[in-house]
Amino acid sequence: MNKIYKAFPGGKNKVLTLSYDDGKVEDRRLVEIFNKYGIKATFNLNSGLTDMSNRIPKDEWKSLYEGHEVAVHTYTHPTIARCSSTEILYEMYNDKLEIEKVFGYPVRGIAYPNGSCDDRCVDIAKNLGIVYGRVAADKYSAVCSAETNAQYAEGPILLGDENGFGMPDDYMRWLPTCHHNHHLKEFGQKFMSLKKKQYLYMMYVWGHSFEFERNQNWNIIEEFCEMISGQDDIWYATNIEIVDYNEVFNRLQFAADNSFVYNPSAASAWLTVNDNQCVEVKGGTLVKL
Ligand SMILES: [Zn+2]
Repeated sequence: MNKIYKAFPGGKNKVLTLSYDDGKVEDRRLVEIFNKYGIKATFNLNSGLTDMSNRIPKDEWKSLYEGHEVAVHTYTHPTIARCSSTEILYEMYNDKLEIEKVFGYPVRGIAYPNGSCDDRCVDIAKNLGIVYGRVAADKYSAVCSAETNAQYAEGPILLGDENGFGMPDDYMRWLPTCHHNHHLKEFGQKFMSLKKKQYLYMMYVWGHSFEFERNQNWNIIEEFCEMISGQDDIWYATNIEIVDYNEVFNRLQFAADNSFVYNPSAASAWLTVNDNQCVEVKGGTLVKL
């Protein structure tokens, strides 16, 4: 029987994604850096705040974020778990509506503002067609209060799932690997050094572009992008591309003995067959393995 493993596009087994919030004017410089190095990101926008002078105006959105994903960050950025359900609905719905008016495609992700999220927020988001939600914590900060990280000697420590580079269990409470201020370069080096082909690995970085200006540390992201770009084994993806790819893969229809597979979706899926063969299964095709 063929041994089949899920692979990412191109047969890769690692994915890098980034997520930046609030749509402030510093996004211009950040997008320029990402574009220079072919890095993909998701930008989470508050469409009710764009008349503020420190935010990217709506008429610039489409050209600036071209090639990246834009997602909901609520209309006016309240701490939504403290709000009434109707206000949560209003905040998510109006943001999705206004962003879609500009971009013309279905917006299906959210970064919870102030990281605020409870079961109601998740349910309301799902009912609006949102398929993933990013929280504002990360795997690094979840353990950084522990003494282990206060005195780490051999590099920062992450939670257990493949050293913080595992795939998420719950995409509606998607926990990034690290904030860019948390040992970004070290985590990037660790991620690049992962060579075990039997795992899928994800590195997920989050933050706000204005923090680079405030802390005068643009070099952190510039050096990280330069270091991690152009790797043959890394897929550079937006958040929604990862979620959508999972769906394509999960819809694959395999023969009982793995001798063939049918892909009912429009997009391609990739498999690793018997550990060494990369197979692309194009949308709408049946492929013998
Ligand atoms: Zn925010």
